[in-house]
Amino acid sequence: MAAARYLSNHGRSTILLEARERIGGRIFTVRDSQLNMPVELGAEFIHGRPEETWKLLREANLSAFDLPFEQYRLSRGRLVHLGEENPEMEKVMAGLAQLGPKDMSFSDYLNTAAARKATPAARRFARDFVEGFDAADPDRISAKALAEEQEGLGDVEEETQFRLLDGYGALMKWMADSLDPRRAEICLNTVVSEICWRESSVEVIASAAGRNESFRGRCAIITLPIGILQLPPSARAAVRFSPDIPGFRTAAMQLAPGAVVKAVLRFRESFWEDPAVARAARAGNELRDAVFFYATGLPFPTWWTMRPLRVPILTAWAGGPSAHALSGLSQDELLAAAIETLHQLFKISPRKLRSLLEHFYTHEWINDPYARGAYSYVTVGGMSARVKLAKPIEGTLFFAGEAIDTTGQASTVAGALSSGRRAAEVVIRSLS
Ligand SMILES: Cc1cc2nc3c(=O)[nH]c(=O)nc-3n(C[C@H](O)[C@H](O)[C@H](O)COP(=O)(O)OP(=O)(O)OC[C@H]3O[C@@H](n4cnc5c(N)ncnc54)[C@H](O)[C@@H]3O)c2cc1C
Repeated sequence: MAAARYLSNHGRSTILLEARERIGGRIFTVRDSQLNMPVELGAEFIHGRPEETWKLLREANLSAFDLPFEQYRLSRGRLVHLGEENPEMEKVMAGLAQLGPKDMSFSDYLNTAAARKATPAARRFARDFVEGFDAADPDRISAKALAEEQEGLGDVEEETQFRLLDGYGALMKWMADSLDPRRAEICLNTVVSEICWRESSVEVIASAAGRNESFRGRCAIITLPIGILQLPPSARAAVRFSPDIPGFRTAAMQLAPGAVVKAVLRFRESFWEDPAVARAARAGNELRDAVFFYATGLPFPTWWTMRPLRVPILTAWAGGPSAHALSGLSQDELLAAAIETLHQLFKISPRKLRSLLEHFYTHEWINDPYARGAYSYVTVGGMSARVKLAKPIEGTLFFAGEAIDTTGQASTVAGALSSGRRAAEVVIRSLS
C-alpha cells in the first residue's frame, strides 16, 4: 500500500494485487460491536516513534495513545510485581552488544560467560522475551541480529509503545482511500501464482474469482511475506518466478517466519481489578493498573490489558515455540488453553472464567496461506539477508515488506511501510 501510494502520487499507474478479500494483510482490525472499539488480531502497537508511521498518522489525522508498562510475573504460584523495569533481564540483553564477530544462536549466547553473570531466572526471562517479542525460536535466532535490534528498536521497556485509537485498520483504510483513483487500482481476491519476467517487462499470472488473469507492467514490487518467498517453486502455494531466482530464495532462507498465536478475550467485567482477585493471586497490591502479565511455561505466556483504557478485555499472546505448540488447535482448544492460563494467573476457576467470558477472537497466522507466520527474524549467520533481499533484480523485480526493511525496523508495520515506500522510490528513479 505504501509503495502503491508513492508510485501513484508520482504519476505512475499501479495495480495492487491482493489475494485476500480485504486490504491490510497482517494488519487485521475488527470492531467489537459491544464496546465499539477496535480489536487488533494482527499488528497492534507502534513501537516507539518511527517517522514513517507517525508522518502518515499526522496526514491521516489519526490519534495514537501511549501505554503504561506496569508488569507482573507469575512466580511460584503468585503474581510478583515487576513495575516498569526489569533490570536483571536488561543485563542479559545488554551483554549481546559485547559479542565478538562470530554469530551464534540466542540459546548459545545464554550459555556464554557474559550471559551467565545474570541469574538463571533473568536468563529464563530473557529467553521468554525473545520468544514472545521476536516470535522466534531461541535455538535459531541470530544473537548478532538481536544485538542490532536492541540498538535499532531501542529497548521496548525504555521506548514508549503506542496504540491507534481507531486501530491500524483505520490507517490502512485511509491509505487506500488516498490512492489516486486515476492511477492506482486495488484488485482484491486475486491470488498471484506466477511472475514471468525479463528485463523491463513483467507478466503476473493470478487467479481472480476462479478465472486466470494476466497483468502486465514495466516492473513489479513484490511484498509477499517471507514464508511464501521461501517456498520452492514446486510447492502448491508458491509464487513461481519464470525464470527462477534461486539466489534470492537462498537469501530468504536465512530469515525465518516468526510464529505467533494471539487471542483477544472480552469479559463481562474487568475481574482482575477486583481487590479480592489480587489477594487470591497473592499479588501484594491491587491489579487495577496492571498492563502485562507473564506466565512462563503456561500455554499463553504473555497477557496484556487495554490500559490506559479501562475495558474488560485481555489479550493472550504466545510466540516462538509456545505458538507452534498452539498452532492448528481448534478455537475451543485455544480457548481452553487461554482459560487454563488465566486460572493459573488469577486463581479463578475455569468455570467462573467461562461464565464471565463474552467473546473470544483469534486468527490463525501460522497456517494462514497468505501470511505463513507472524513476522520475520534473522537466523544464525543471516545478518546480511535483508540487505541482499532488498536488491532489485535487473531493474525489474523489486522486493519490499517487513522482512526486507534495512532501516532497523524489520518485523514491524513501520518497517513494512518504510520498505514499500523505498522500493517505490527506487522504481521511480530507475524509470526516469
Ligand atoms: C499477531 C501479530 C501481531 C503483530 N503485532 C505487531 C505490532 O504490535 N506492531 C508492529 O509494528 N507489527 C506487528 N506485527 C507485524 C506486522 O503486522 C507486519 O510486520 C506488517 O503488517 C507486515 O506488512 P507487509 O506489507 O510486509 O506484509 P503483509 O501485511 O502480510 O502483506 C502482504 C500481502 O500479500 C498478500 N499475499 C500473500 N500471498 C499472495 C498471493 N499469492 N497473491 C496475492 N497476494 C498475496 C497477503 O494477503 C498480504 O495482504 C504483528 C503481526 C502479527 C501477525
